[in-house]
Amino acid sequence: MDRPVADTEGRSFEGGCHCGNIRFKAEGPLRQILMCHCSDCLKLTGTSWGASAAYADSISWLGESQPRWYRSSQWAERGFCPECGAQMFYRRRDLPLVSIAPGAFDSSEMLTVSGQIYRHAHPSWGPCGDDLADLDDTYPKR
Ligand SMILES: [Zn+2]
Ligand SMILES: [Zn+2]
Repeated sequence: MDRPVADTEGRSFEGGCHCGNIRFKAEGPLRQILMCHCSDCLKLTGTSWGASAAYADSISWLGESQPRWYRSSQWAERGFCPECGAQMFYRRRDLPLVSIAPGAFDSSEMLTVSGQIYRHAHPSWGPCGDDLADLDDTYPKR
């Protein structure tokens, strides 16, 4: 995992959606938050999205419900609560990670923002984080 959050390995972090239908637990390490300004994120969430991440096989579902997955591009799917619509998860087909929205965690104080991608795709109204590192290199060209 690139850019893990220090001291999250070996710990577990719980979270859930707004309505409580979906509850999850993610075992560390967690990745630092990456902000994304791509057109898919803007369409699906209204503004730029941001996410931490955990290894897919370290995430477990604590209740009966699991996210519904929507294929948002050729390479990725978004996981959301079918009851309240909370956009909590993103997974690329070629990576063993699941991105997790910081706000989905019950507490997200352990996280920090490490950078952003697709800044060039964002409309001119911002905010786009001029002080954040651009980390587009390993992401599909858009
Ligand atoms: Zn919900
Ligand atoms: Zn995006």
